[in-house]
Amino acid sequence: MRFSKLRLTGFKSFVDPTDLLIQEGLTGVVGPNGCGKSNLLEALRWVMGENRPTAMRGGGMEDVIFAGAASRPARNYAEVALQIDNSDRLAPAGFNETDTLDVTRRITRDVGSAYRVNGKEVRARDVQMLFADAATGSHSPALVRQGQISELINAKPKSRRRVLEDAAGIGGLYQRRHEAELK
Ligand code: ATP
Ligand code: MG
Repeated sequence: MRFSKLRLTGFKSFVDPTDLLIQEGLTGVVGPNGCGKSNLLEALRWVMGENRPTAMRGGGMEDVIFAGAASRPARNYAEVALQIDNSDRLAPAGFNETDTLDVTRRITRDVGSAYRVNGKEVRARDVQMLFADAATGSHSPALVRQGQISELINAKPKSRRRVLEDAAGIGGLYQRRHEAELK
């Protein structure tokens, strides 16, 4: 599984549809302060099911929708589409039927979020599990926010253990155990 394209529409500062091609090897994003580099990483985390507004540097989940600028009105929805190259057929069970996976999340004002995989509506949990089982996801240590390294250095041992567990790809198992205990 390999992320191959990220498309942002009305997401934070990316008001017009914008494609970020993620080719093999290293992709660098450079630009002046405030041009939207961190917003790109937030879009990646968001489409994988991030539900904490704080992780999105906002007060509420709808703050990811383009809020308007002097010359442009605000938008009513934000959408992020992540294209995944699954030609190695390593996607978790239930998502492994196609060479390409299109995961889309859209949030509409006063309506909330809807997720789709290959055009079919799915639950937030399905998307979160898809990425947790693939040893990535919105909480993955593969995504390092600005300031996160110093947070990790100062973290309690238990939170540090979570980082190792995510690296070992067992995050999805913990979520399933938690849900089983609630039943
Ligand atoms: P730095 O180099 O300082 O880290 P950056 O390239 O990471 O900067 P971001 O933090 O990604 O920049 O982008 C911040 C910009 O996104 C700001 O100009 C902010 O106004 C804009 N922005 C954030 N949320 C929204 C929104 N909902 N609507 C419109 N613009 C937004
Ligand atoms: Mg930044």
